[in-house]
Amino acid sequence: MRTPLIAGNWKMHNTEAEAISLVRVLMQRIRFFSGVEVLICPPFTSLSQLHKLLVSSPILLGAQNISEQSSGAYTGEISGRMAAEFCSHVILGHSERRAYFGEDDALINQKVRAAQKAGLIPVLCVGESLAERDAGSAAEVIRCQLRGALAGIQLSAPSDLVVAYEPVWAIGTGRSALPEDITKVISSVIRPGLAAKWGEKLAEGIRILYGGSVNPGNAGGYLSQPEIDGALVGGASLSAEKFLAIIERTQ
Ligand code: PEP
Repeated sequence: MRTPLIAGNWKMHNTEAEAISLVRVLMQRIRFFSGVEVLICPPFTSLSQLHKLLVSSPILLGAQNISEQSSGAYTGEISGRMAAEFCSHVILGHSERRAYFGEDDALINQKVRAAQKAGLIPVLCVGESLAERDAGSAAEVIRCQLRGALAGIQLSAPSDLVVAYEPVWAIGTGRSALPEDITKVISSVIRPGLAAKWGEKLAEGIRILYGGSVNPGNAGGYLSQPEIDGALVGGASLSAEKFLAIIERTQ
């Protein structure tokens, strides 16, 4: 049994004060939900205060990125160890980091190693662009991203990794993918890729989320698919009402 995970990626939104008021609303209402894990990934600047606020709440905190380096003269960077003071998870390989910050699979692999070393659970994002999809190469792109990002990585428990399948053309565009298509990619490409690496038993327990324009209206369609173990939510996670409504769809 894989417990559904609903993760919010706030991206570069919300000051500390805005973050606190959004989280206060989530905290009040989250206790009415069971059998679902909730993770929020705010900007670094709010992590310390939110960590204090969430001390007795089941809401988990994640970072949106870490450096591949463990410490040193790397101006502007945040290490895994620093993030792990406040976070249990870290988003890695997000398509925005790949596209705007030149992160490739080799760098993402180093970041996965850095996360593991710091005791953070990577939420590893993979997904094809529209051009790759139209060219019929989506499956190969995803296989290649998984192979590259996870090269040489050992996993002791399935809970030590989360994979998010995020077709790039569906992120922040309002253009969501069909739930059946997502199921097909997960069951024919992603989970077999994980099984080839670590064996079926371990792969069966790894949570694989869908991400791409998830909202309260379409969330039920994804979350009712047995192969989809939750959602990575961008835009809709900035609204307490929308994010809570998505969480409610897991019930
Ligand atoms: C994301 O940032 O990972 C994402 C899926 O964004 P959105 O929900 O806005 O498409």
